[in-house]
Amino acid sequence: MIEIPEYAAQVLQTLESNGFEAWCVGGCVRDSLLGRTPQDWDAATSALPEQVLELFGAQARPTGLRHGTVTVRSSGQSIEVTTFRTDGTYRDGRRPDSVTFTRSLREDLSRRDFTVNAMAADVRGTLCDPFGGRDDLRAGTLRCVGRAEDRLAEDALRILRGLRFCAVLGLSAEPETDRGLRSCRSLLNRIAAERVRAELDGLLCGPAAAQVLRAYPEVVGTVLPELLPMVGFDQRSRYHCYDVWEHTLHALENAPPDRLVRWAVLLHDAGKPRCFTQDERGGHFYGHPAVSARMADGIMERLRFDAASRQAVVTLVEWHDRDIPRTEKGVRRALMRLGETRLRQLLAVKRADNLGQAPEYRGRQTELDRGEEILEELLRENACFSLRDLAVNGRDLLALDFHGPELGAALERLLLAVVDGEAPNERAGLLKMAKLLKDAPDIRVIDRKYEQK
Ligand code: ATP
Ligand code: MG
Repeated sequence: MIEIPEYAAQVLQTLESNGFEAWCVGGCVRDSLLGRTPQDWDAATSALPEQVLELFGAQARPTGLRHGTVTVRSSGQSIEVTTFRTDGTYRDGRRPDSVTFTRSLREDLSRRDFTVNAMAADVRGTLCDPFGGRDDLRAGTLRCVGRAEDRLAEDALRILRGLRFCAVLGLSAEPETDRGLRSCRSLLNRIAAERVRAELDGLLCGPAAAQVLRAYPEVVGTVLPELLPMVGFDQRSRYHCYDVWEHTLHALENAPPDRLVRWAVLLHDAGKPRCFTQDERGGHFYGHPAVSARMADGIMERLRFDAASRQAVVTLVEWHDRDIPRTEKGVRRALMRLGETRLRQLLAVKRADNLGQAPEYRGRQTELDRGEEILEELLRENACFSLRDLAVNGRDLLALDFHGPELGAALERLLLAVVDGEAPNERAGLLKMAKLLKDAPDIRVIDRKYEQK
């Protein structure tokens, strides 16, 4: 039985009592059957969009009329109500050329991508499942509705959706669907970067992300060709028991489902194949963090990530191979350079990276534990690690006749002194120190050790 939340049930009920068919469809039905909380509830109805608009009056907004979608407010929540429809032919591998409204739920379900997404439930919780979605869900099977190759070629986004459902829900594609996912992959280049990004975000955060990437490197490699040189790349290093790709996947399995951490782990060693050198001690990858970081930057620009996420991942990739800060001074400095959030993410990346190495080198975990302990201690005692926490500010330094870049540099120098424990975070002492800086500019040199690339 599907339990439909009250706000959605009210909408279905209103449609039914006015003589229309009304069903919850798609992801919400699938997720309820899995015992997962649906993100949102979507409804499908035999009522035409104008009829839905008229029925719900001020509660209704035409949000996607071309596709037959009206958004209805109900008990403070929103639900998308879409008229049963069939999609016309697809000429661009992405969008139907036209949509036609229909009176048939079954027809509407048959245009949907996968059997697990092609189920509906009415207000009484009765299931309509013409393609065996429930059995597939029970068996953990991803199966296209209809002929896999046709359906995936029609709209190539479905390939990435399929991989995402496998990664998030732990499904495996049945043989025909599996073949289609691979054989239609070149059509992915028609899909807008934003959509690719959204699907990859979802895929990467899924509990089975590594399995999916392991099974479909050539498909993911269509949208992320930079990953392909990693596959099978022998590291010839005693630290590693896996090739670069397998190492990355093991690291991914050990990374928390934080989107930025997962991206950083996926890309942290992407530069390794380009940096490979070998001597009598084995393989080396000098400079690979910087190369990987540049690659991450390029990939994320192409996929139209927002600037903040892109910068975060680039920083994590760049820093992933640096020594683990495990002295108080080291953690304080890392906190100053990265801030709490990024430092926590970095520790997660490093933990995952280390767990993907040869078993005898996984002992780094205790060093990471130590780093984390110190971090918690510092945060508990409200340690000063950013200009925001510093007992003096720009205005204080202006009053001492500091200006422009000189002022910024002086503030940073004072912060570093506090972070390093050379000076207490107290106004009087810091002002005195600032005066000294003014008179002896050479003291202003900032130790950038932690920032070196
Ligand atoms: P989630 O919301 O968890 O990502 P979902 O299955 O609800 O998963 P939506 O994008 O919200 O995905 O789409 C709702 C429903 O619309 C899907 O369950 C599916 O039936 C149908 N659908 C969505 N995108 C496509 C597509 N590209 N091709 C065919 N059907 C689709
Ligand atoms: Mg949905």
